[in-house]
Amino acid sequence: MKNIIIIGSGLGGLSTALRLSNLGYQVTILEKHNTPGGRLNIIEQDGFRFDMGPSFMSMTYELEELFNSIGMKVPIELEELDPLYQVFFEGKEKSRLIYKDLKKLAKEFEDVEPNLEENAKRYLDKASQFFHDTIDKVVKSNFDNKLEYILKLSRVPLKHLPYLQKNMWSEVEKHFKSEEVRVIFSLVAFFLGSTPFQTPAIYSLLNYTEMKHNGYWKVKGGMYKLVEEIIKILEEKNVKIVYNTEIVAVGNNNGKVYELIDQNGKKWTADIFISNSDAAAFRGKILKREKFSENKLDRMHWTLAPFTVYLGVKGKIDKLMHHNYFLGNNFRGYADTIFTSSISPQKPYYYVNVLSKSEPTCAPEGCENLFILCPVPDLRYKKSWEDKDELADNIIDDLSNRVNFDIKSNLITKKILAPDDWANTLNLYKGSGLGLAHDINQVGAFRPKNKDEHFSNLYYVGASTTPGTGLPMVIISSKLVTERIIKDYGII
Ligand SMILES: Cc1cc2nc3c(=O)[nH]c(=O)nc-3n(C[C@H](O)[C@H](O)[C@H](O)COP(=O)(O)OP(=O)(O)OC[C@H]3O[C@@H](n4cnc5c(N)ncnc54)[C@H](O)[C@@H]3O)c2cc1C
Repeated sequence: MKNIIIIGSGLGGLSTALRLSNLGYQVTILEKHNTPGGRLNIIEQDGFRFDMGPSFMSMTYELEELFNSIGMKVPIELEELDPLYQVFFEGKEKSRLIYKDLKKLAKEFEDVEPNLEENAKRYLDKASQFFHDTIDKVVKSNFDNKLEYILKLSRVPLKHLPYLQKNMWSEVEKHFKSEEVRVIFSLVAFFLGSTPFQTPAIYSLLNYTEMKHNGYWKVKGGMYKLVEEIIKILEEKNVKIVYNTEIVAVGNNNGKVYELIDQNGKKWTADIFISNSDAAAFRGKILKREKFSENKLDRMHWTLAPFTVYLGVKGKIDKLMHHNYFLGNNFRGYADTIFTSSISPQKPYYYVNVLSKSEPTCAPEGCENLFILCPVPDLRYKKSWEDKDELADNIIDDLSNRVNFDIKSNLITKKILAPDDWANTLNLYKGSGLGLAHDINQVGAFRPKNKDEHFSNLYYVGASTTPGTGLPMVIISSKLVTERIIKDYGII
C-alpha cells in the first residue's frame, strides 16, 4: 500500500483525501491550524457559531461528482438562495433584490433599465456559450506544458476571442445602460478577489453560473457542516489528521521528496506528497525556488485581502437577509484604489452574511450572527493592521445607519480577522484572500502547476493551483491531482 501525506486540510486537501483513500492509498493529513477546513472554517464564541470564510457555493454538482466518485451521496443538505442577494446603494433607503428569474429581476429594475430582461438574456447567453465551450476543454483539464494548453485553447471557438481582450466592466457596460445594473452584474469580479476593471471579461461566465446555470446554494446547518461530514467519512477510511503541525522544510534526494519536516523538527515520511498550502508560496518559502522568491511573488498579481468581522447581536435586524451588499456611490474610484492603498478604506464597501436568518441554532434565541467581509489591500501595501478596531467600528456604524439598528448597544460578541490574522493562521500569502489572481497570464498552464517541476512525487491541490479559486474549483482541483496520481502510480 502506498502512503500519501497531504499538507493542509482545506477543502482541496480533504477532497483529495476522500478520493485517494477510496482508491486504497493510506493517507495522512498534516495541518498547521487546530481545526480542519482551511478557509472553510468555523468560529465559535459566546454561544454564536460563524462560518469563518465561504458563505455560499455555486456549481454544486461538483459536490455530487466528488461524493459519487467514492460511491456515496452528498452527505449535506443544500438550500438554494432565492433571491440570490440584496444590494444597498449609498443614499438609497430601499435595497435592490437580485433574482435569478429574469422577469422578476427586470421588474426590480424597471425604473432604471427598462430592457433588462432582453439585455441580460443576450449577456448571459454569450457567457453561457463561453462557459460550455471551455469548462471541459480548459478548466477541467490537466496540462503537461504550455503548448498542450495553447492547443486546447485553440479548440475554443474563435468567436470568444474578444472576451480575452477586454475587462469585465466594458462587457457589462456594453450590455446595460444603468450604472446600478452595471455595478450589480460586475460584483462577481469581487468573488474572484479583484475588481471588474482588472478582471478579464471571460469571467462574465460567473454571472451565468449564478443567474442561470446553477445559482447560489448554502448548506443547511452552516457551511462548516460540509467539513464535519467529510471528516466523519475520512475517519471511517482510516485517514489520520494531525493538527498544529506546520511543514517548514522538505528532505529530497534523486529528484524525489523523501520527508517533510515540521516546526518542531519532527520528520514525516511517505511515498507521495501533496501540498494544499499555497502552490506559489510553498515553492518559494519551503522549496526555496528562485522563481518564487518573495521578490518575484510580490510582483505577481494577488487577490484582495479579507477584512472580516464576526458579530453576535441581541435582537433581529429585519432589513438584512442571508446575503447583503453595502456599496458606496463611487464604484470606479473605490475599485481603482482599494488594491494598492496603504490606509484602511474610509468609506468601505462590504458584504454581510446573516446565517441566523435561516439557521436558528447558530445564535442564541432572539439573536443574530453577522459575518462582515470587506475586501482590503494585502500586506504588501498595508503592513500594519493596528487600526483594525477603527475600521471595524467604521463599518459597524455605517451598517447600523443603513439598516436602522443600533448594533453597538446590542453587541454580545465580536471578533475581527485582519489580513495579518488570515496570513498567520492559514499561511495565505501576504493575507491575499483568494491567492493568485485569475488574469489570463496566471491561469491554465500559467498558474503554478499541480505537479512539481523537479520532484516526481510532489503534487499540489487547491485554489492556488489549477483551475483556480472558489469551493467548486477546489473540488475540481482534487479530481485533477487524483488523475495525475492515478496516471503516475495507478489504483492500489
Ligand atoms: C473570506 C473568504 C470568503 C470566501 N467566500 C467564498 C464563498 O462564499 N464561496 C466560495 O466558493 N469560495 C469562497 N472563498 C474561497 C474559498 O474559501 C477557497 O477557494 C477555498 O476554501 C480554498 O481551499 P483550499 O483547499 O485551496 O485552501 P485552504 O482553505 O487555504 O486550505 C489550506 C490549508 O493548508 C494549511 N497549511 C498551509 N500551509 C501549511 C503548512 N506549511 N503546513 C501545514 N499546513 C499548512 C492551512 O492552514 C489550511 O488549513 C472565500 C475565501 C475567503 C478568504
